[in-house]
Amino acid sequence: MRIAPKVDHLSDILPDEPLLMMGAGPVPIPNSVSSANGIVINHLGDAMSRVIEQIKVMGRYIFQTDSPWLMGVAGPGSAAMEMAVSNLIWPGTKVLCVCNGFFSKRLAEMSRRVGGVVEIITVPEGEGVNPDVISKKLEIFNPDILTIVQGETSHTTHNTDLGEVSKLAGQIGCLVIVDAVCTLSTMELPMDAWGVDAVITGGQKGLSSIPGVSLVAFSECAWRRVESRRAPMVHWTLDAKLATKFWHDASYHYTAPVSGLLALHEAMRLVCHETLELRFERHRVSSQALQSGIEALGLRLYVPKAYRLNSVVGVKLPQNIEAKTVCAHIAKRHRVEIAGSFGPPIIRIGQMGEQCRAHNLFRTLHALGSTFNELGCDLNVPEGMAQLENYLLKSDFA
Ligand SMILES: *Cc1c(COP(=O)(O)O)cnc(C)c1O
Repeated sequence: MRIAPKVDHLSDILPDEPLLMMGAGPVPIPNSVSSANGIVINHLGDAMSRVIEQIKVMGRYIFQTDSPWLMGVAGPGSAAMEMAVSNLIWPGTKVLCVCNGFFSKRLAEMSRRVGGVVEIITVPEGEGVNPDVISKKLEIFNPDILTIVQGETSHTTHNTDLGEVSKLAGQIGCLVIVDAVCTLSTMELPMDAWGVDAVITGGQKGLSSIPGVSLVAFSECAWRRVESRRAPMVHWTLDAKLATKFWHDASYHYTAPVSGLLALHEAMRLVCHETLELRFERHRVSSQALQSGIEALGLRLYVPKAYRLNSVVGVKLPQNIEAKTVCAHIAKRHRVEIAGSFGPPIIRIGQMGEQCRAHNLFRTLHALGSTFNELGCDLNVPEGMAQLENYLLKSDFA
C-alpha cells in the first residue's frame, strides 16, 4: 500500500492577510461574486436556464452586439481564444496576425496550429497598430481572418485604431477576431459598430470574476462561417456548434462550470448595474490618476501616452533594479502584489475591475514608492501621493 501524503491545511499556505492583487490578473472580486462562486447547482434545469439566458442578455450589452451567438467556455481566456480561432480557421485559411507582444503572438501560434496560413505584422515597440500598414497588407495578402488584441497586456500597449482596422478588414470580407481579455468592460469596444466578428474575454480581468470561465461572441457573419465549415472541427469541447446545445437549447454538451457561471452572472450584473459609460469612466480616471501619481514619484511610464494601455500600466525600472526584486519586496513588505514582465524591463500594475478603486490606488502607489526607496532609490513619495489625491479630487471617483 502507498502511504497517503500529509500536506498542509490551506490555512497554513494562504497568508492571514491576503495580498492586494494589483497585478495583470486575476484581480480582486466583490464578495457577492465570491459567494456566488461557492454555490453548486444542477448544470441543467430551470435555474441554470435562467442564469444562461441572462448571461446572454447581459453579454449582448457588455459586448455591444445584437448577435445571439454568445457563449461561455469552461477554461481560461486562452480557451476562448482557441474557441474563436479553431472554429473560424482551418487548414489553408489565410490569417493576418497583428502582433504587439506575448498574447497577440499566442493568437498567431493558435492559428498556425489549426492549419492557418499565417502572416505576422509586428507592431513597433511602444506603438499601436497603424491602419495604413494594415490596409496595404490586406490588399497584398487578402486574408480570410485578421487577429488582433485590443490591449496587449505584456507590453502595456493599446491598439487605439482597432475600430478603423476592423472596418478596413470588413471592406475586403476579412473577419476580425479581437482578444479583449484584459479590456472588455473597461473601455469602448462596440462589437457591431466596429464590425468585429469575434470577441474574446476571460473572467479574471475587466469583469472581476474568477479565472477559468470565459466568454466568446461571434457576429452573424462569423456564425455563417462556423456553420458552413466543411473541414472537421478537431476540438470536441471547443466546437462552437456543439456548444449551442448548452448555450441555446438548454441541453447537454459537457457539464458546465456551474459555480463559475453563477459568479460570472453576478459579475456581469454588477457591470450592468454600474453601466458601461460609468465603468469606462471609472477605469479611465483611475488609471490616469495612478499614472500621474507614478510620474510624480519620479518614475517613468513605459509606453507613450498615445498608445498607452489604461488596463495594465507598464512602469520603467530604474537602473540596476530587477522586476522580480521589486515584486518580491512589495509583496512581502507591503502586501501588495504587482506583476513583472513578459519581455520588456518593466513592472506592471493592473487597472481592471475592482483594482480601479481609490483606496487600492493609494495603497498601491504608496507601496510602490516606498518599495523603490527601500531598495535604494530616491523617489518623492509625498509628491506622488499628493498628485494622486489631486487628480482624483478633480473627478467624482474619489
Ligand atoms: C490574460 C490574457 C490572456 C490569457 O488569458 P488566460 O486566462 O491566462 O488564458 C489573453 N490575452 C490577453 C490580452 C490577456 O491579457
